[in-house]
Amino acid sequence: MTTRWLTASLALLLTAAPVAAQSARVIVINGDEPGIGFNDPTPAVPVGGNPGTTRGQQALNVFQRAADLWGRNLQTSQPVVVLALFSPLACTATSGTLGAAGAWNYFANVPALKQGGTALTPDTWYPAALAEKLTRQDIVVPDDLPIELIAFFNGDLGKPGCLENSGWYFGLDNQQASNQTDLLGVVLHEFGHGLGVSVGPTSASSGNRALGWPSVWEQYMSDVTTGKRWLDMTSAERAASARNNWNLVWTGAKVTNSISSTLEFLATIEADPVGTQEVGAATYGPSLARGLGLRGVLVAPDDGGGVSLQDGCEPYPAASSVAGNIVLVNRGTCSFVVKTAQAQAAGAIGVVIANNAPGFLSPGGSASGIAIPTVGVTQAYGAALRAAAPLDVRVQLDSSVRQGTTAGFARLYAPTTFAQGSSVSHFDTSLTPSVLMEPFITPDLVSKVRNPFDLTLPLLKDIGW
Ligand SMILES: [Zn+2]
Repeated sequence: MTTRWLTASLALLLTAAPVAAQSARVIVINGDEPGIGFNDPTPAVPVGGNPGTTRGQQALNVFQRAADLWGRNLQTSQPVVVLALFSPLACTATSGTLGAAGAWNYFANVPALKQGGTALTPDTWYPAALAEKLTRQDIVVPDDLPIELIAFFNGDLGKPGCLENSGWYFGLDNQQASNQTDLLGVVLHEFGHGLGVSVGPTSASSGNRALGWPSVWEQYMSDVTTGKRWLDMTSAERAASARNNWNLVWTGAKVTNSISSTLEFLATIEADPVGTQEVGAATYGPSLARGLGLRGVLVAPDDGGGVSLQDGCEPYPAASSVAGNIVLVNRGTCSFVVKTAQAQAAGAIGVVIANNAPGFLSPGGSASGIAIPTVGVTQAYGAALRAAAPLDVRVQLDSSVRQGTTAGFARLYAPTTFAQGSSVSHFDTSLTPSVLMEPFITPDLVSKVRNPFDLTLPLLKDIGW
């Protein structure tokens, strides 16, 4: 019999008709009640290619665009129905829930197979939309909602009292202001999870499986250290692998074959005696010249004041050692672009930004008028550089390796400290350029899901899409 694993539980009535169906059959159903969410009548000015004239209509247009973008990239004979809500979620002026989405059900051992369908691997969990694509049928569960995905986002974001300095951007062109969150990017990302970018019912943290069965993901997840697939590990081994930073990788052929067309060459910084480390190139300013890179003396002078003298947010004193050198600053207080602009104004030839928390740093932002390169390093490496400054450093590209890979495979996000909701079911943040399915949305995303822009569609193809 078909076995179902319920991933979400919502009691609500479907009162609205499907708002639209497109040729690729990803259908968004407006599940909001009158007057709120997608039905919010608050007047809005059309923005960024979104012609809606109310807040609710603009939000619905964004969801529809995300559905269209996915639909035109996927092939399935079965409709993919997304129940969507844009109703208020828990929120205050300083913190709030943005939203989430996922597969409504996971299925295993679906017996019926329509002509032309593909049998599922026995005793293996598949997200609903993929199980239905492969077996070419609508898998009906009595007394359950007839949907494949659930998506709910906080419609109040940006309104008075709810993170009002960081509202949604409703445009369809990725041109959000620096204090806005691109709703289209977030919805595309969350739909990606619902379609199958997730380890599914297998616990990312404990490695335990639902009913003892693996998810379809596990055959493509490998640990470079042990050489084992998640499929072949014990729960304890999976739990360890989920925390094996940069050594949990995706080995599916479609992703691996797309790496060279999608990811940049590896960038490293070399400083004697501090050592060598991978760096994240900024999304703004000039790219590192191939072969040449950036080399010079790294200095760490105090800036002109403010919260910290090491954040590089204020102009440097005239007598500082910035001119002609590479400047080290700490992350925080102001944007990455401001730090680079201050260093450039004082005559620097490059900027190294040290993270202010554990993890890889790829400085994001966009700016015109920046003429020097910027890279990010870890907090620990930055501290070691600061202690040794001034010293010679060299930033260069390695054309034999792609950024965000280990042993030639794309890394999955597996930080040493487990991050609930982020670890395992995302690509790592070291992939450059950023891809859609990293745990944090970045401003350089372009609303594309396939290579050479992204690895999300290749990953879905690896699992059977
Ligand atoms: Zn995510």
